[in-house]
Amino acid sequence: GFKMGIVGLPNVGKSTLFNALTKTAAAQAANFPFCTIEPNVGEVGVPDSRLETLAGIAGSKQIIPTRMTFVDIAGLVKGASKGEGLGNQFLANIREVDAIAHVLRCFEDGDVTHVEGRVDPVEDAETIETELMLADMESIERRLQNIVRKVKGGDKDAVQQERLLRQALAVLEDGNPARTVEVDKDDLKAWNTLQLLTTKPILFVCNVDEDSAATGNEHSEKVAKMAAEQGAAHVVISAQIEEEISQLDPEEATMFLEEMGLHEAGLDRLIRAGYELLELQTYFTVGPKEARAWTIRRGTLAPQAAGVIHGDFERGFIRSETIAFDDFVALKGEQGAKDAGKMRVEGKGYEVKDGDVLHFLFNA
Ligand code: GDP
Repeated sequence: GFKMGIVGLPNVGKSTLFNALTKTAAAQAANFPFCTIEPNVGEVGVPDSRLETLAGIAGSKQIIPTRMTFVDIAGLVKGASKGEGLGNQFLANIREVDAIAHVLRCFEDGDVTHVEGRVDPVEDAETIETELMLADMESIERRLQNIVRKVKGGDKDAVQQERLLRQALAVLEDGNPARTVEVDKDDLKAWNTLQLLTTKPILFVCNVDEDSAATGNEHSEKVAKMAAEQGAAHVVISAQIEEEISQLDPEEATMFLEEMGLHEAGLDRLIRAGYELLELQTYFTVGPKEARAWTIRRGTLAPQAAGVIHGDFERGFIRSETIAFDDFVALKGEQGAKDAGKMRVEGKGYEVKDGDVLHFLFNA
């Protein structure tokens, strides 16, 4: 599954948000169970109303959402890249995630200390980015020492790695994150294995006070501008509201959201933004036993999409019976779609579309 790391300076609301995300009673009651793997790791069911629609049509006994993992990565402070205290551990944690949700304090509250004594989310974002860039520079320099030895030994992969690492280092030394390097298509695979921190996609999460949850405020507006300039995404959330919602049952939660002028919970918006950021999409498998959602990257071909369910499905892939979501709904299920000629048989080269209802045939 896909993993999102929650980072940010201390006292910006990371834990509040993480706890709310993973404890939402509404989410659980709606059959979106989560489980906490470790105290700071939570799996969240991805809300998707299409799943209920499909289950309703097919009479599926169970609904199983696809999942996204959130990791609360504490300990990012000025000087963290020097590996003091928790430093190294959380840098290792960040390396493992697919994307970073960077929580920024956009609320004023005299009772909650800000580490720098003022509320300035843009400046905070730079502080964190600087630490990540320093960590990248340090790890590149360390790796280069090893690689230079391998290059001398005639290792071809090492030649490519050295070239890419030096490219990244040059950009970082100019004060820019490694994601600004323009990578050649042929180098992409090697580039991704470098696992640099500042190549991870970023979603800025503006944690605003309750009154600004629907509208945003002057702080979140500055973040929005910064995000746009960087080509990064942003969402406006009030961690405190999310915390309150997480205590309510689904009906109460809906009423509460309406009172606050919100259409949906922050969790939904955060996950959707994460999906967008990682260029993810969903396909479904539907039967009398269960209706289930699966996550894939956009552009994934049918065999690899099948591989998300089981490796055997990918290895033995023959074909996929495919019904578009809208056809499945309009024609009231598989039989109807089949009768109307809307069930397509797709082969190995088929690029799965968002919302496809798939049935894989494979050699066991
Ligand atoms: P972390 O260090 O980033 O994990 O921050 P916490 O989640 O522990 O929050 C730090 C403090 O800020 C706690 O006392 C929270 O109750 C408070 N806090 C978090 N979000 C908000 C918010 O949106 N508004 C206000 N006023 N306080 C908040």
